[in-house]
Amino acid sequence: MKLRTKLWLLLVVSTAMSMVLFGYSSVWIGKAANKGYTLFQLNPLAQSIVDSIEEQPEFGEDALKRTLDNAHVEHPAIRWLWLNDQGQSLYDTSGLNPNLSFKDLAMLMQQMPQRFLTDDDVHILTPAARDGQSYFLLLSIPASEMKQGEVYFMVRTYKSLLTLVVPIILSFSLPFLLAIWLFSSINKRIRKLNHALNQLNIQSDSPHVELVDRSKDELGQLTQHYNSMALRIRSQFAEIQQFENKRKLLLSNLSHDLRTPLTTMLGCAEMIRTGNYKDQQELQGRAKIILQRCRYMDKLLDQMLDISRQDSDDLTIRLADHNLSEVVRKIAVEYIMILDGDQIQFDVEMPDEDIQIAVDAPLIERALRNLLDNAVRYGNEGRYLGIQLTADEQAVNLIVKDKGKGIPPEHHARIFERFYRVDGGRKGEGLGIGLAIVKDIVEAHQGRIEMSSIPGVETTFRITLPRT
Ligand code: ADP
Repeated sequence: MKLRTKLWLLLVVSTAMSMVLFGYSSVWIGKAANKGYTLFQLNPLAQSIVDSIEEQPEFGEDALKRTLDNAHVEHPAIRWLWLNDQGQSLYDTSGLNPNLSFKDLAMLMQQMPQRFLTDDDVHILTPAARDGQSYFLLLSIPASEMKQGEVYFMVRTYKSLLTLVVPIILSFSLPFLLAIWLFSSINKRIRKLNHALNQLNIQSDSPHVELVDRSKDELGQLTQHYNSMALRIRSQFAEIQQFENKRKLLLSNLSHDLRTPLTTMLGCAEMIRTGNYKDQQELQGRAKIILQRCRYMDKLLDQMLDISRQDSDDLTIRLADHNLSEVVRKIAVEYIMILDGDQIQFDVEMPDEDIQIAVDAPLIERALRNLLDNAVRYGNEGRYLGIQLTADEQAVNLIVKDKGKGIPPEHHARIFERFYRVDGGRKGEGLGIGLAIVKDIVEAHQGRIEMSSIPGVETTFRITLPRT
């Protein structure tokens, strides 16, 4: 069933129920809370007394007294007065027995029946006839004995009932119409939201449809949430796509990177096998090329392993107390040998006393080697390589410096992202994974890595490891 039909049903049923409820509850609550006589009770009561006197078999003072006294006993708040047609009292239950002139009676009847709304006594004069004589029964009751409130709805003819139909329909339908208007507008907004959710297109090249709903109510808030959610999904999708593209590019580059050195190595090996070289120096040169290419391929395979390890989030660290100065010294010696003859100034700075810290030494070595490799590979124009080890009570810092071409500021924010490369494409070796690995290793040690670079002046990578 559609919401609109449900609403109509609800409104019709609830109106019928509320009308019945109103009628019954007002009558019962009125009865319980409002004690007293109503005009509608008093008139028939007076008439019933008159009827009983008129129908009495004998009519005399005693019979009259008996009837009126009985009525007084039954209704002690009411004063009963039996008058002849001259206004003379024949019996008065209050014992006053007044003689009433026409003026007196007229004054008593003044403003009846509305009189019960004031504080004056209420009087009802009922004519009677007995034995050919005219009499009057005067019923008097204090206003305080009347009901304190009454609602009348009086219709004498069907025609007059019809005049009420339009106001009743109008007054009952107004809340309906307002409720339907409110519901329709809410329904329209929900439909819009529903439609937008249905159409939600996460492709970043399709136009983004922003829903406009300025109201501050729950639906307005939902629309705002929808808008921000749609934007977030689209940007995340774009990021995933970008990542996926990089991955594809990486795979195709990788197969190319593996095949190229292989071809060179095959050529060199073939030359050595056939003995087709000029002298010992050429032989050495070819062997060196094979060695270089092997190292390069080895590194590529290492990086591939790193990628799959990162994909499976497999970076478990085994902390143990290590002499970090010793680790740095060992790596520095390696690089001094590698750079031997390359005319690169190599500075190693570390405190005299050894620095002990709980780390996963092989992982820290790898991080340091990655930074040093980058400094050699990308920063060799500066002819400078620096390693610095500093420590205080809280932390240990490992700094790698070079003075090469550096990293332009627009790349700083993303430099630690996986597959991110400054040249973006194929210039130079590498898969854009090295710095991401360094960051993972450092963060696994609860440390942090920072980078600062002024291209052509100095590029610094600083690893900070907490001591506790
Ligand atoms: P890869 O070296 O495999 O490309 P990295 O994550 O190690 O990946 O480095 C990402 C990019 O950061 C490199 O492509 C390079 O452009 C840049 N980069 C890293 N270190 C330096 C450095 N010392 N000097 C200049 N550029 C650097």
